[in-house]
Amino acid sequence: MARILYWFRNTLRVEDLLPFQPEPDDTLFGCYVLDERNTSSTPIEKMRMGPKRKDFLLNGLHILNQEMVRLGGNLIFKEGNVVKQILQLVTELRIDTFIYNEELGTEEINDSMRIHLALQIRGVRVAKTQLNYFSSFPDVPFDIVDTPKIFTVFRKKLEQHGAFQMQPHFSPQKWDAHASDPIPHASHDSVFESGCIAGKKRVLSYIHETQLARTYKETRNELLGMDFSTKFSPYLAFGFISPVQIHQELVLHEQEFGENDSTYWIKFELLWRDFFRYVFLQHESKIFQASGIGNKSNTPREDFALFEKWRTGKTGDDFVDANMIELLQTGYMSNRGRQNVASFLVHQYQIDWRWGAWWFEHQLVDYDVCSNWGNWLYLAGVGNDPRENRVFNTQKQARDYDPQGKYRAYWLEKR
Ligand SMILES: Cc1cc2nc3c(=O)[nH]c(=O)nc-3n(C[C@H](O)[C@H](O)[C@H](O)COP(=O)(O)OP(=O)(O)OC[C@H]3O[C@@H](n4cnc5c(N)ncnc54)[C@H](O)[C@@H]3O)c2cc1C
Repeated sequence: MARILYWFRNTLRVEDLLPFQPEPDDTLFGCYVLDERNTSSTPIEKMRMGPKRKDFLLNGLHILNQEMVRLGGNLIFKEGNVVKQILQLVTELRIDTFIYNEELGTEEINDSMRIHLALQIRGVRVAKTQLNYFSSFPDVPFDIVDTPKIFTVFRKKLEQHGAFQMQPHFSPQKWDAHASDPIPHASHDSVFESGCIAGKKRVLSYIHETQLARTYKETRNELLGMDFSTKFSPYLAFGFISPVQIHQELVLHEQEFGENDSTYWIKFELLWRDFFRYVFLQHESKIFQASGIGNKSNTPREDFALFEKWRTGKTGDDFVDANMIELLQTGYMSNRGRQNVASFLVHQYQIDWRWGAWWFEHQLVDYDVCSNWGNWLYLAGVGNDPRENRVFNTQKQARDYDPQGKYRAYWLEKR
């Protein structure tokens, strides 16, 4: 008769969750703490979590709560200091077993270490999962400290060893209820329907119903609309879906219709996501430093007026501006767009790449510590990129990827 508390972090779903299935007479509570640090300001004078991302999160928390109510319980919502709130709940609920997923990021790891240690001292059994990897972390064919620096080498090693997570974790059949603070309501609807139900729907639709997964490689560099790429990233960022759930559906699809370049390429891109997780594990807080993971000295311009032009889509470069307006209005931008606007900020304006990363952190609905900071490092030339200077010619890119100017016309008109 265990009394279990599951701490929801970026695993906001009721499936593929627990390292074991609770016994029928166990009590299982689930809680989420909205971290007070989200409202703290970054050096560009923007809160870490902007309203677009917050709305997407809040909508997703309401859906999670509905799912838990359906299974007999509810989501216990708190806001404030994460460590304090969790330790208080453990006492209040007389918890003897605590489960959480390890999330990456310096503060995230620090929080879980403090909670883990404090609970072990109190004699609480603590179990942790590693659910956010596509690869079978930590069972991979290299030590984390020796993670290949080059993505292609990293990918080939994993592919050769078939080192992928294939088995989902347990999905609890019932939850228990407890008093909760009210979950705040979002101020606006998001461009993406939020929550674990919408996430699963997107995966099933993209892979099975519309079979867009079969043409992904040909369409992934397009810019306009919902269907040229998977749009899995916002759902993965909050764990509304897990990498294993995506993998399983891809495998089912391939069993029926065969693998093609496109179904493979979705896995290829998910490995990029993993790659940046390993970059963080290797270099930790260095990924947030101006000099990145190398030792290059960096003397960027500190020109706030120029940065504001970039941020608000007023640079005069129509391709950059269209992308920045899309980001401003929706909280999303394509991968092609992100590469171009990042290159423009760093190389054309020569502004500190971290200002761009902070803006993305504030604005992206799919913000993910490792993917965001890892990609920025890469593009700023202070990360793992084997090419010294990855400069994008934004006007050539516009001609290649938006030849009729439809994307630019669509967003520039909405300015
Ligand atoms: C400067 C910059 C910042 C970025 N910040 C983030 C971020 O905060 N969060 C985030 O999820 N992605 C980030 N990306 C990666 C990528 O742009 C997005 O994952 C992608 O555009 C999301 O759309 P999608 O799901 O339709 O992608 P798809 O093209 O359909 O790709 C499928 C999945 O593969 C993964 N993926 C694809 N490309 C990358 C990549 N370059 N790096 C890591 N994972 C990748 C994502 O999980 C994505 O959902 C960033 C890229 C750049 C250049």
